[in-house]
Amino acid sequence: MVRNGTVIDGTGSARRSADVAIDDGRISAVGAVSARGRTEIDARDHIVAPGWVDVHTHYDGQVTWDPILAPSSWHGVTTLVMGNCGVGFAPRRPGEEQFLIELMEGVEDIPGTALHEGIDWRWETFPEYLDALDRMPRVLDVAAQVPHCALRAYVLGERAHDVDVTADEIAEMARLTREALQAGAIGFSTSRTILHRSKHGLVPGTSSTPEELLGIGRALGDAGHGVFEMVADLQGQEPDLSWMRDFCTTTNRALTFALAQMPYAPQQWRDTLARVDELGARGMKIVPQVPCRPTGMLFGLQSSFHPFFFHPTYARELFSLPLAERVARMRTAEVRARLLAEELTHESPIVRMLASNWAQMFPLGESPDYEPAPETSVAAVAARTGRRPEEVAYDLMLEGDGKRFLFAPLANYVDCDFEALREMMLHPRTVLGLSDGGAHCGLICDASMPTFLLTHWARDRKRGPRIPLEQVVRLQTGNTASVFGLPDRGTLEVGKKADLNVIDFDRLHLHGPEMVFDLPAQGRRLIQHVDGYRATVVSGVVTFENGESTGAMPGKLVRAA
Ligand SMILES: [Zn+2]
Repeated sequence: MVRNGTVIDGTGSARRSADVAIDDGRISAVGAVSARGRTEIDARDHIVAPGWVDVHTHYDGQVTWDPILAPSSWHGVTTLVMGNCGVGFAPRRPGEEQFLIELMEGVEDIPGTALHEGIDWRWETFPEYLDALDRMPRVLDVAAQVPHCALRAYVLGERAHDVDVTADEIAEMARLTREALQAGAIGFSTSRTILHRSKHGLVPGTSSTPEELLGIGRALGDAGHGVFEMVADLQGQEPDLSWMRDFCTTTNRALTFALAQMPYAPQQWRDTLARVDELGARGMKIVPQVPCRPTGMLFGLQSSFHPFFFHPTYARELFSLPLAERVARMRTAEVRARLLAEELTHESPIVRMLASNWAQMFPLGESPDYEPAPETSVAAVAARTGRRPEEVAYDLMLEGDGKRFLFAPLANYVDCDFEALREMMLHPRTVLGLSDGGAHCGLICDASMPTFLLTHWARDRKRGPRIPLEQVVRLQTGNTASVFGLPDRGTLEVGKKADLNVIDFDRLHLHGPEMVFDLPAQGRRLIQHVDGYRATVVSGVVTFENGESTGAMPGKLVRAA
């Protein structure tokens, strides 16, 4: 029994003061309940909301060895969807492990050594992978999508990267997808972006033909469930839009793709949303997936990249030193002068741009500001103080014993505010996602997005309008659950699964990200702590109390049907 809380039920309805009664893992009443519960949680002055449903994570490896699934679980996530963007670990033929790990390491920046040591590979087919997940206890519910890269490697072997495939091979990929969906996979995912590479080049499937995508897509139609997820440079523009349209009409399934305001085409997202509206009016379920803050890279001395990462002196003399020693050396006038006089040696124009995009680099701070004003950028500070931006960035990274980060938004920050994002988030056909929980361990830490959604959008935002609490809660619960076909959760209504968060909203506080080395093989990852989650409940069982795991493991594999 959760007593006297302010219930925000995930439907978007106005908040109300109510008790939430739980019986046998389900919600049995919302209102004034007089009967005493076996367990009572006093939620006075707290909000009571459904558990967060995070539909875009990459815990595919971690889920096989880690029952806690932090940092997402610390941030109130009770259901997460993995297998996004085409990468994952099933199906897999014996001998292919290294290849699948290299793909994950290349695309999602998860240390390969950690994946090697952590994964035990007790599966070959996708249904066997689901069975292996099913046998493990964990703190929250997980759902898996069929990753195109693994599927291609399984069916095509050495030719996994080939664009052209035979009709028989497409039929085989479709058959395996159907089999996986029948066993409970929640969807299928693919990557069509040049940003997703491994040491083998663009990941398998990047340039797959419409025939292949529609062939696999039809498996979703046959199975009668499943979402088609993709990350694509075209972001729903032609020529992709043609087969996306065909996909929707032939399968009647939902297709979701990552949408962002890109610096090279800052108005395109509006056009995409207009098309999605047009097609939506004709019954096509095309759902742009948008984040609640810019996907931001964190440049720091402990990160996988920063502006001096490829400078000769850094690469040769500093890179492999322990942090404290590196900081000490970088503080000497001699090393500082040398590094600032050098240029980076990397040839990639993308890397060169990222390393010097000073107007889009901001000190993040210990109370992280993800919507920083333009006058706080490295470029602006440099101009104001008569220094070179390189010097400003250099000194900022040395603050806090070299543990501070520069926030470098990849997209969605063209105008240096969140107005474009706000419009995307509030668009009725979008879904919130892209936290990338479990991934980008050395450069991005966005698993905290569900918390940020509340603190920033519903409470702290000063540089533009906020979004009502009822609305942000719905975006992270009722809406995500409904797009991904999870009708048993996402709202606090009688009969729904008892997944919920009891939150001290006034004190909800997001700490700055930090680097820890706790993955298998001392692998590093960025994490982010939070205060203010009084309790998280999964299937009626308290999993976290005041930020501490209770040891309870009620989480299950979600099998879609
Ligand atoms: Zn992703």
